[in-house]
Amino acid sequence: MHEHGSISIHTENIFPIIKKFLYSDHEIFLRELVSNAVDATQKIKRLASLGQFNSELSELRVRVSIDKEAKTLTISDSGIGMTAEEIKKYINQIAFSGATEFMEKFKEAADAQEIIGRFGLGFYSAFMVADLVEIQTRSYQETAEPARWTCDGSTEFELSDGSRIERGTDIILHINAESEEFLEEHRIQTILDKYAKFLPVPIQFGTRTEHVEDGADEDGKKKWKDVEVDNIINTTTPIWTRNPAELKDEDYLSFYRELYPMSEEPLFWIHLNVDYPFNLTGVLYFPRLKQDFELQRNKIKLYSRQVFITDEVKDIVPEFLMLLHGVIDSPDIPLNVSRSFLQADGAVKKIGNYITRKVADKLAELFKNDRKSYAEKWADIGLFVKYGCISEPKFAEKAKEFLLLQNTQGNSYTLSEYHDKTAALQTDKNGTLIYLYTPDAERQHAYLASAEKRGYDVLLMNSPIDSHFISHLERELEKTTLKRIDAEVMDKLIEKEAAIEMVLNEEQQKHVREIFSKAVTQPGMELSIESLSPDELPVTVTMDEWMRRMKDMAALGGGSMGFYGAMPDHYKVAVNGNHPLIQRILGTDEGQQETLAHQAFDLALLSQGMLRGEALSAFVSRSLSLI
Ligand code: ADP
Repeated sequence: MHEHGSISIHTENIFPIIKKFLYSDHEIFLRELVSNAVDATQKIKRLASLGQFNSELSELRVRVSIDKEAKTLTISDSGIGMTAEEIKKYINQIAFSGATEFMEKFKEAADAQEIIGRFGLGFYSAFMVADLVEIQTRSYQETAEPARWTCDGSTEFELSDGSRIERGTDIILHINAESEEFLEEHRIQTILDKYAKFLPVPIQFGTRTEHVEDGADEDGKKKWKDVEVDNIINTTTPIWTRNPAELKDEDYLSFYRELYPMSEEPLFWIHLNVDYPFNLTGVLYFPRLKQDFELQRNKIKLYSRQVFITDEVKDIVPEFLMLLHGVIDSPDIPLNVSRSFLQADGAVKKIGNYITRKVADKLAELFKNDRKSYAEKWADIGLFVKYGCISEPKFAEKAKEFLLLQNTQGNSYTLSEYHDKTAALQTDKNGTLIYLYTPDAERQHAYLASAEKRGYDVLLMNSPIDSHFISHLERELEKTTLKRIDAEVMDKLIEKEAAIEMVLNEEQQKHVREIFSKAVTQPGMELSIESLSPDELPVTVTMDEWMRRMKDMAALGGGSMGFYGAMPDHYKVAVNGNHPLIQRILGTDEGQQETLAHQAFDLALLSQGMLRGEALSAFVSRSLSLI
């Protein structure tokens, strides 16, 4: 047999285009060819198990080898092989009609980036790195003759008798001048580690030296020798493909270490396994998040039937789940579509919902079974749960069971427990329940002390997304508002029916304002004389809750919030007309009045951590002279 032919293809020059646009991802040719070899191997196994193939299966492994002299890279398998007819059908026609489809998609796609690595290029991705591709194959069918196919990347191919004796296929790539990196062992090893580490059929690449026992010498001492053994690069039954009932914690932990050698141990994990309405397996780990958000992202690896596809799962799992680590494996995630299409895909949506539900169930179970240890882990999982509540209404609904609020004492409460704890004391005269919070109990100690004096409870809100979480809580909870403890003077944070009477008369109030306006001269400071309880501080500096939140969100990068970020800070300076110090100030001479006012104002700034630089030095020397 010897045939020449022309590949039926509408676009003449597809290869230069593939080469150009997939430049950065050339290495995936190896993933594609090794996957094909694995598929061919799986097929022969299946035929054997169905009784449709009764000869010797022999050793089923895929071999990758380099011949530096001949400048070839070969992928060999002992799978089902192909007859000449099958080559015509599968390689000449199907493969290249795929190419045409690729071109159509390419024309539609907004940018080339969308396609890179997304499109299952299949067999002909070989032409990204080879200027001649040769197939030597022999079908498993007893009567089949070996066949050889070659193609130089033009639309011409050649089909002739082959030389392969055993069942299976060799794909021989004559590596082109620009791609010689793929003749380096180290490069190939790296690519195989990335894509083939968990393939279901052993993949052999090169050999390695092993130190083995070699009998004993006259004295009975063991002897050792070095032997060359085949180097198998993969684990064929990775943890996610196994039955959870047979797995121990240590198995999950060691798999985690294998995936992320540099990471701390995870807190816990979920083994995913569904068949219907989509097929998905995987193991997701909860990392120790601490406060850092960004570092932990993008660690989930996506596989399809144990072939690594990508670690960009952004459009496949809901955003907040990207904080998790681990593996998901699903043949039902379409890979040959653009990213925007992916988000709209039905199966992908269901997968996202399924994972969300599993994660929520796991958290609910941990909370129910061992609340104490759950609460102890809150520092790590809190960020995750809050993020989930903000971004996924379905998760938020489930999270009501296991969402915790933590106060400055380190105690934690569910939403309903916290409501019951605070309702009696912290409901204001309009019937609104006020939850107080601080981002930093240490720094806001003066305000905290003043809240505690009144028996109020204060929540600790120190995670990077708390400004969003607070708004979420207000939307969820009825007649409840959250206020940072320095948003107002304490008497106004939670306003009660009984107003406190002012001891100063009109004249005195005017005088106090005059004195203090000499001390409070910075821009953005608004002075007021208030009638507060005498045990409040004489002067308090506060920033309006709403204003501060807008600024916090702007700082977090909330796009349209930029406007607030650019606004100058605005503070209220409340002078407590009922504090004994004010009487003292009114009673001294003019020079002394200004000094004391200055001193009281600086103390307020100091307790808010706002006294710095020259103002701080001035305060220190004024204090010294007052002593
Ligand atoms: P896909 O794998 O997506 O079907 P490919 O272009 O990679 O597309 O391969 C086309 C077809 O060629 C395969 O479906 C298979 O029938 C055949 N084929 C490719 N490689 C092999 C191989 N190593 N052994 C047997 N058949 C193969």
